[in-house]
Amino acid sequence: MSAGPLYGAVEGGGTKFVCAVGRSPTKLLDQVRISTGAPDETLGQVVEFFRKHPVDSLGVGMFGPLDLAAGATLRTPKPGWDDVPVRAILEAGLGVPVALDTDVNAAALGEQRLGAAQGADPCLYVTVGTGVGAGVLVGGRPLHGLLHPEFGHILLPVLPLADGTPDPFEGACPFHGRCLEGLVSGPAIAARTGRPGEDLPDDDPVWDLVGRYLGAGLAPAVLLLSPVRIVVGGSVSGRPGLLPRVRRSLAESLGGYLNHDALGDGIDEYVVPPGLGAGAGIAGALLLAQTALGSATSPVDDPPTV
Ligand SMILES: [Zn+2]
Repeated sequence: MSAGPLYGAVEGGGTKFVCAVGRSPTKLLDQVRISTGAPDETLGQVVEFFRKHPVDSLGVGMFGPLDLAAGATLRTPKPGWDDVPVRAILEAGLGVPVALDTDVNAAALGEQRLGAAQGADPCLYVTVGTGVGAGVLVGGRPLHGLLHPEFGHILLPVLPLADGTPDPFEGACPFHGRCLEGLVSGPAIAARTGRPGEDLPDDDPVWDLVGRYLGAGLAPAVLLLSPVRIVVGGSVSGRPGLLPRVRRSLAESLGGYLNHDALGDGIDEYVVPPGLGAGAGIAGALLLAQTALGSATSPVDDPPTV
């Protein structure tokens, strides 16, 4: 009679935590949004939601940096969120296994299983919004390692402005200045132009720069990881006309060295928008919950549940 396990999914962001319940990532039954406040308060509300909607396991994709081995946050600019043992707090509050990963690794899982990266392995999921990050899947599994990939903080060369002079912007990252995040994130665009990106028209010259920097940033990722497809999501990436600039810049940055159609005529199918839109993260968190249940398995051998 059993309909199978019920899974909980949490997408933890800087402004909101989305909690959902479902038996498969494509059929979410209940969902709630919680404003991100202090950790005790926010995680307390997460526990409260899942006590009302009991699940067999929980998957959490959340902002980093994270110590994935310890299941905890690391030092972060978000007030109060340093060294919070998220996994232990949720396991103690709910009594079920909890899998914790980065928001971008969760989104990569969602896109590989159900979205625009199906059949692509390794694959890279990049988000450009308030921050810049990337999830990487190799053999169907999220890449962890020392910590986890921190793609947003790779350093980039100074590109010329449209008039040929060097870009004078010093970047907005408090750690590195001109890293990718310091050049193309929402706050970086606002720091450069004095206006929020949403207020800038599609033909503002800043979008050309953003596209060129993002393409230049993808080049080392392609060289190092050899991804079979790159999904580019996030609020900034949704700007009309940006992805073609990114593709062009990526191809130019590689200088014709990689002799593959994906970097040539096939580049429109190589650097693609998300198939799940903004739903990749929560779908991926539910896939993480499936792996947390143990028997089930890793995302790579778990059969599709669509
Ligand atoms: Zn940085």
